[in-house]
Amino acid sequence: MFEKILIANRGEIALRIQRACRELGIRTVVVHSQADTDAKYVKLADESVCIGPPTPSESYLNVPAIISAAEVTDAEAIHPGYGFLSENADFAERVERSGFVFIGPRPESIRVMGDKVSAKDAMREAGVPVVPGSEGALPADPKEILRIAKSVGYPVIVKAAGGGGGRGMRVVHTEAALINAVTMTRSEAQVAFGNPSVYLERYLENPRHIEIQVLADEHGQAIHLGERDCSMQRRHQKIIEEAPAPGIARKLIEKIGARCVDACKKIGYRGAGTFEFLYENGEFFFIEMNTRVQVEHPVTELITGVDIVQQQIRIAAGEKLRFKQRDIVARGHAIECRVNAEDPYRFTPSPGRITAWHPPGGPGIRVDSHAFAGYFVPPNYDSMIAKVLAHGDTRDQALRRMRIALSEMAVDGILTNISLHRELLIDPNFVAGGTSIHYLEQKLAQRK
Ligand code: ADP
Repeated sequence: MFEKILIANRGEIALRIQRACRELGIRTVVVHSQADTDAKYVKLADESVCIGPPTPSESYLNVPAIISAAEVTDAEAIHPGYGFLSENADFAERVERSGFVFIGPRPESIRVMGDKVSAKDAMREAGVPVVPGSEGALPADPKEILRIAKSVGYPVIVKAAGGGGGRGMRVVHTEAALINAVTMTRSEAQVAFGNPSVYLERYLENPRHIEIQVLADEHGQAIHLGERDCSMQRRHQKIIEEAPAPGIARKLIEKIGARCVDACKKIGYRGAGTFEFLYENGEFFFIEMNTRVQVEHPVTELITGVDIVQQQIRIAAGEKLRFKQRDIVARGHAIECRVNAEDPYRFTPSPGRITAWHPPGGPGIRVDSHAFAGYFVPPNYDSMIAKVLAHGDTRDQALRRMRIALSEMAVDGILTNISLHRELLIDPNFVAGGTSIHYLEQKLAQRK
């Protein structure tokens, strides 16, 4: 096992990784920007290194600064968390070439999955069902593009191969609008992702977002930890996640889970990963793979009892997975609410000083947060300040516990979306379970 790990991230995930390290007896180095100097997790770390100004490009994305911090502190491995450099294949390569262990997949896997066209090709080959669409990138010839769209069937969605974060996509309802949409998406993709390649697939009208968590070691073993339902989204950003997914038969989940495990073995995947699917009318359609730990991983930890971050570290240290698929038993139901520092009506960020901070507690409640009374939420980063989780024997119990937790939670000094969560937790359709990815936007459109 490693003796010292460098954490190349910030906020709640930096604290989460630190906790995993401590339990494993590993010393920690946290790198931070000038905006995060006073964060509690920075003080809690065994060592900390300031790597630059608040702007991400000069600190959390500053590869040479992070590598030299690992050098001067004698860290052996680097955990990238989520966001920032976590899915940057060049960074993973640099880390390994500099003699450190990258806690994540091989750079080649990150590269293949980072390009949505090659990811879809790899999945199709591995026997994972994908959204019907163009095989590979769209050609230049407009006639050929029109022919492909016709065979796929309208509406279609044009997507950038290099896209991410919900950007670089366009829905097209009619043949007349197609060529213009392709041209526009291409030029946007060139500017935003440096890659003009686009592809096309059928636009699913009312799907749910269901994802499968996997773990794979470098000795060819892989397992899945079941699914998460992340359909409650605004602008493609998840805000509530839960497991298991309400109303989906176990045998369907086992079947798609087994496909994901096979795919991991076929592509030589290593580490934790998530296969994201759209689910409609009983069918799963792969959209992308995330080659890192995800924000919503604790939902799965609560029902399986597996510490996903510790598993990432063990796998990176070369250990074999200690459990087989049959050892994974899900217990009860878990829900996560992402608490953001933002206006709950207009969704504008609300950075600033937290003057009062009362996180909830009690049976079945877990709060992952780096915030505290007196903490200053910097304006430079993502607005998520806490993840509140509730676990119960049944979905109903988890919902009740979450409602109590949200009623106890109080944050002053900044605005948060806690009131929106309270509304959603009593929404009859959410309570019934199984709402689609468009549900929240539709509900918000009707809200005063
Ligand atoms: P990103 O990497 O930008 O998050 P994804 O491919 O994961 O892009 O898609 C993001 C979201 O866009 C999905 O969660 C879904 O809401 C929507 N979306 C993507 N592809 C389709 C599709 N074929 N049909 C309907 N919605 C889609």
